[in-house]
Parts: sequence; structure tokens; C-alpha cells
Amino acid sequence: MIYPQPFSGKRNLIGILGGGQLGRMLALAGYPLGLRFRFLEPSPDSPGGQMAEHIVAPYDDPEGLRRFTAGLTVATYEFENVSVAAAHHISSRTALYPPPAALAASQERLVEKTLFHKLEIPVPSFYAIDSSDSLKSAVEKVGLPSVLKTRRFGYDGKGQKVLRTSEDVGTAWEELGGKPLILERFVSFDREVSLIAVRSRTGETAFYPLVENHHRDGILRLSLAPAPDLLPTLQAQAELFANKILEELDYVGVLAIEFFQQGDRLLANEMAPRVHNSGHWTIEGSETSQFENHLRAILGMPLGSTRSVGLSAMVNLIGDLPRVDSVLKIPGAHLHLYGKEPRPGRKIGHVTIRSDSEADLQLRLAEMHELVRAEP
Ligand code: AMP
Repeated sequence: MIYPQPFSGKRNLIGILGGGQLGRMLALAGYPLGLRFRFLEPSPDSPGGQMAEHIVAPYDDPEGLRRFTAGLTVATYEFENVSVAAAHHISSRTALYPPPAALAASQERLVEKTLFHKLEIPVPSFYAIDSSDSLKSAVEKVGLPSVLKTRRFGYDGKGQKVLRTSEDVGTAWEELGGKPLILERFVSFDREVSLIAVRSRTGETAFYPLVENHHRDGILRLSLAPAPDLLPTLQAQAELFANKILEELDYVGVLAIEFFQQGDRLLANEMAPRVHNSGHWTIEGSETSQFENHLRAILGMPLGSTRSVGLSAMVNLIGDLPRVDSVLKIPGAHLHLYGKEPRPGRKIGHVTIRSDSEADLQLRLAEMHELVRAEP
């Protein structure tokens, strides 16, 4: 047996690197299974740290890491900018999933796109950019518009710029800080979709239905699940691509992959080796949530069913909190607050609206959007 029995009295202790809302929702999903949690998070007040034992230390602090790993059943992480060196250090002391190789691939856009390309997963054409001159010659090949992105530490649309004119090209290298970059063809997609996949330590896999995602200013605002008008062939394509990555990396845990859909074709944009914002709807909208399945996977337990329960719409609460009583009045609305202070651009919670009919879901979603729009 891979794991001590959760109900045997010797309870499993799960270590989570990072104390954000994803860690908090992992803990919330794990308590019914009799699991205990410990967070390593430098910030003294964090959504995860409010829920469980909390070690306040930098991620690369040797003493913090020693205290963090002592007595763990298994360790995992809830954000992908954990240093690969710290991940290797932890995996020398305790089981760590997803594997550090997945971190390395997802932290660097060039490495990530090269991996997709090697696995014959379609991607927008891309070039490595290391100077203003290499940018000019890549733009000649890719054409305009195109998208220039920093290779590392890009998230929620930060560290990227759409190049539309030759003036944009002239200033872009300096604007993005003269760091290693990647230039991608601009994809005029029909919509953005994402797949949440999960693979257990035993090799068992499961996939949630593709979700349709809407971003504004690079931040996810709305997910519709399952994606409306989802064709089985599109789902099969996404699962085929996910399987290739899961096998290549000998992956364990939840993996999220974001795609651009163009007609009946998918182009991979990026992946995240963790539970993902576009999977929050699974808490109410699936038989087993992404959070519970991540925990099952890293413990080597059987995976739970990913069958959808009706239709879901997930709305992120960003910057401001709408009136809580008004949200709770919407039938089928489930409010999740992360214990964070409201601040412009900050994800402070989300609401999942679940319904059995499309028309009803749209009605309730319109009510929700009124509340979010009503914010100053
Ligand atoms: P990313 O940080 O790569 O997820 O990009 C943030 C958002 O920018 C995506 O969700 C898309 O809406 C948009 N975007 C990124 N890359 C491209 C591209 N190559 N073509 C068109 N839009 C893009």
C-alpha cells in the first residue's frame, strides 16, 4: 500500500508549498478524508495559513524546509514558481508531487512550448528572443500582430505585449525589461478552453470536461462548464494531448492545460502543474472536485468520478467584494471567500452558480454579473 490508511488513527499529513487560495481549497477538500495539512508560506497571514499548521519562512530557507518536511506523508505545491532547487531538496526528504520536472517545464515558456512541440501537440509558431535584433528578424517570420512574452514569471497576462505595428516592435524589447522572451504568432481564436487532467501514483487517469474561459486584462473572469456546444472530438483531442504530457513527465496530481480553439482544432497555450482557477467549478459541479482528486492522486488512492452534476458558471471576485447577502440570494450560487483583503486586481473569492438548465443558468449568471458590475 502506498499510503497509510486515512482512517487508521495515524493520520496522513500533507505538506503544501504556498499558502494561497488553491492551498486553502485543497485543505478544505482533504478534511473529510481525515487528512491533516501543513503550509510553508512566507507571508504570516495567508488563505492557507488560516486553515492549518503554518510555517512562516521563505521557500528556500533550510530550517523552514526541515520543519516543513518533518513527518510528512507527501508534499505538493499550489503555485508553479517554486524554485526547482527547493523542489529537489524537498523530494530528497519526502515524496513530492507533481514531479519537479513538471515545474521546470511550466516555469519557462520556451521550455514548455518546446515540450508541446516535441510531443506533437499543436502550438502557435514561436521563436526565442534574446535581443532587439532577434526580435526584428522573428517578427519578419511570424508577421504582425504577434505576442511577445517574458519566458519566466508571467502570470495573469503580466509580462506580455501584443505587437501590432513596427513602432511596437521598436520599443518592445526595452519595455519588457531586456529579459529572455518568446515571440508567438497571434492566434485569432474562437474561444479559450482548458482541460483539468489528473493522474494518480498508480497511473490511473481522469479528465474533466473542457471548460470555456473568458479573460479580461489577462485575468480569468468567467468559466462555463462544461464548455457550451462541446463536441466529443474536441474533448478527445484535449485528452490525447494531456495523456502525452502526463506520460512524458511521469506526472502525478492535477495538471491544467489552456488551449485556444480555432474551429475543430486546439492549440496549446500553457500548462499549470497544479489545481487551477478554471477548475474551481468542480467543487459543486462535479462528483469529485479537482482538489479532492489531486489529494487522491498524490496519495495513490483511487480517483473519484469526474462526471459533471448539471451546468456550472464560475465567476471570479476580483478587487472588490459584492454584497454577500445579494450573492447568497441567487438560487444555486455558492460563495467562496479566500480570507484576503480586497485590493485592486486581486482574486479575493469566486462564486459558482450551478443549475440543471442552460436558460436558468444564464438568468442567474446575469444577476451575478449585475452585482459584480455594481461595484465601484
Ligand atoms: P498567457 O499568460 O500566455 O496565458 O496569456 C494570457 C492571455 O493572453 C491568454 O489567455 C490569451 O487571451 C492571450 N494570449 C496569449 N497568447 C496569445 C496568442 N499567441 N494569441 C492570441 N492571444 C494570446
